[in-house]
Amino acid sequence: MTTTNTDPTLLQELRYTLVRACRILYAEGVMEGPTGHISARVPNSSRMLIKPVMVGFEEITEEEFILMDFNGEKLAGGGPVGQVPGEFHIHSEIYRARPDVASVVHTHPLYTVALSASGQTPRAYNLEGRQFASGVPLFDAITDAITTPEMGQAVVRTLGQTLAVVLKCHGVAVGGSSIQEACLRNVSLEQAARMHLLANQAGTPTALGPAEGTFLGSPEVRRARAQPTWDYFVRRSERILSNGR
Ligand SMILES: [Zn+2]
Repeated sequence: MTTTNTDPTLLQELRYTLVRACRILYAEGVMEGPTGHISARVPNSSRMLIKPVMVGFEEITEEEFILMDFNGEKLAGGGPVGQVPGEFHIHSEIYRARPDVASVVHTHPLYTVALSASGQTPRAYNLEGRQFASGVPLFDAITDAITTPEMGQAVVRTLGQTLAVVLKCHGVAVGGSSIQEACLRNVSLEQAARMHLLANQAGTPTALGPAEGTFLGSPEVRRARAQPTWDYFVRRSERILSNGR
């Protein structure tokens, strides 16, 4: 059954935050080029707002975000060049399977994808990367775009109860309980991949285990730092983008 939620204020708030997330993902080097997408579930509905393809993360506007249902029907939004992502199934199938996920990011991050080519996913080699200390699952059944519900469901099975999965030689699907959380988790995952590659250049490093470096991962610290961290990355992306990159 398709349910709807068309509260215009809510949709506008989601569009506003989605644009900020896109600018952060671009400024932090997670995604360049006109493909890749981020979406937000419209609460209490079978709908989502999603970034179209053929529009870059750094240039997308609020109006260009597409409102569509989980079956692929476009309901509103979109600009003159933006197209519904053929891979919207990554988003719709995660939302169907995981009520705890409010936002999904699908990007093709350089370092994470490079690591995946040899069958590896980022491990935690510094404190900032410790959220990945339990390991990040690798989806290697299909090395192609995820263009059907069945393919999306296969990705969801590999994701399991985690919030990040690496698609081999392709990209990542990252979820969060908010747009901010999903966005910054993708930034952290790509930073962990860079650290992973650097650490392994230097020798044979030992990755942090789930019980190590727990200060940054404690619920109190995470809660207290969530909003200031987001605000910082918004300011930083504005500075980087104002320099014309
Ligand atoms: Zn893709």
